[in-house]
Amino acid sequence: MRSQLTLFVALLAALLGMLTAPAADAADPIRVLIVDGQNNHDWERTTPYIKGFLEETGRFNVYVVTTPPKGAKPAAWNGFRPQFEDYDVVLSNYNGETWPETVRNEFEAFVKRGGGVVNVHAANNPFPDWPAFNDMIGLAWRRADFGDRLVLDDDGKPVRFEAGEGPGAGHGPRYPYPVVVRDRKHPVVEGFPAEWMHPADELYHGQRGPALNMNIVATAYSDSSKRGTGYHEPMVWWIPFGEGKVFTTVLGHVGRNQKQDEWPMRCQGFQALVTRGCEWVATGEVTLPLPENMPTAEEVSLAP
Ligand code: ZN
Repeated sequence: MRSQLTLFVALLAALLGMLTAPAADAADPIRVLIVDGQNNHDWERTTPYIKGFLEETGRFNVYVVTTPPKGAKPAAWNGFRPQFEDYDVVLSNYNGETWPETVRNEFEAFVKRGGGVVNVHAANNPFPDWPAFNDMIGLAWRRADFGDRLVLDDDGKPVRFEAGEGPGAGHGPRYPYPVVVRDRKHPVVEGFPAEWMHPADELYHGQRGPALNMNIVATAYSDSSKRGTGYHEPMVWWIPFGEGKVFTTVLGHVGRNQKQDEWPMRCQGFQALVTRGCEWVATGEVTLPLPENMPTAEEVSLAP
């Protein structure tokens, strides 16, 4: 009798424990879905690389969904139905043909309901005809007449150019340049050096779009002597969309056949932006520590 009672109490305690356990622990892995499949960059090599350095932190479970190749028949797209709701973050390593309308609608709904998005490099290039996407990224690789342009002047003040005024999207030759933190209190860059040396990379300029609700996190000076604009161009920014956050960095060019020694994705600053960016869009907080060997204002620092 007594043993039965003990068993009953133990079962009850276990059941209560299950009922009162928090639904999601703060340390639960964050579920990241990388979207790739078309890109004028080397997505076949960079997706596993990004997945690798995300998972190395121990904070993420990373999944990948790949679109049909460029030029595939419409029927091939029937198999591309990512279940965005199963993830906390969608990381775009995609620059290609537009997605089916259903997928676009589901993506919008995911972000509106609080889903996080992280865009890497050319991920701000596609979908010119998708208004919600342009709103989410604010500034995109578009022609000068597509929309506004937003840069900072030498005093750090925002300067807005209207559509058609000044250059459209472009970049000069790749060269190493300092990236300057503009929002020192932003959790993703908290503790970063005020500026850090980034290895040779494309420096996007003349990005165009609605540029509304832009929160510029970091910029780089686009040197006129290197076919740049003479302004401080946004390199990292975020935009709220519904309940969700969309975090974009145009750093990280990796072309086909580019030797891994020369990948700017190896920059410890870049990797900290992406890992901490994913955590922040998912939870609103950053717990991931900075790498021990962050770059400094003078010296680049590359992951092994
Ligand atoms: Zn590029």
